Amino acid sequence: MAGPLKRETIEAWRFAISFLVDRDRSKAARKAFWAQGLDRCARILNDIGLSRSEFDDGVRLPYASEDLLTSAMRSTGIDPDTFRSLQAARGGMSRICITCSHRRQCRGHLDAFDFEDHYQDFCPNSLSFAKLLEDARP
Ligand code: SF4
Repeated sequence: MAGPLKRETIEAWRFAISFLVDRDRSKAARKAFWAQGLDRCARILNDIGLSRSEFDDGVRLPYASEDLLTSAMRSTGIDPDTFRSLQAARGGMSRICITCSHRRQCRGHLDAFDFEDHYQDFCPNSLSFAKLLEDARP
C-alpha cells in the first residue's frame, strides 16, 4: 500500500491542476472574445492600445482570463469604477496588465490578500497606482 503523499507531490498536483484549469479558462475566454465579431474586437483592442499579436501573446500568460487589474486596484485602496480609474485603465494600465510577465506572482499575492504589501517590488503598474492614490486624496 502506498505511503502518505509527500507535501511536494501534493503541491505539484495542485500546480498541475490549476495550470490546466487556467489554460482551459484562457482558451474559453479567447474564444468568447473573438465571438463578439472582428470589428467589435478590433475596436476594443484599439481602445486599450493593444495589437492583435500582443493580445494573442497575452492570452498565453497565466490567469489570462482574469481581470487582475480590478482586483489589484481594490487591494491598493483604489475604486476601480471612478472616472479616473476607468480612464487610467483605458490609458495604458489594462494593456500593461494583459502583457504583464508577473501575473502568477500578482495572482498569488491577491489570493493571499497581501498584494498591497508587495506590489511595489514587481508590478509594472505601481507608479500608476501611486498616481491614482495621490489624485484620490482630499
Ligand atoms: S503585477 Fe501589476 S501589471 Fe502585472 S498583472 Fe498584476 S496588477 Fe497588472
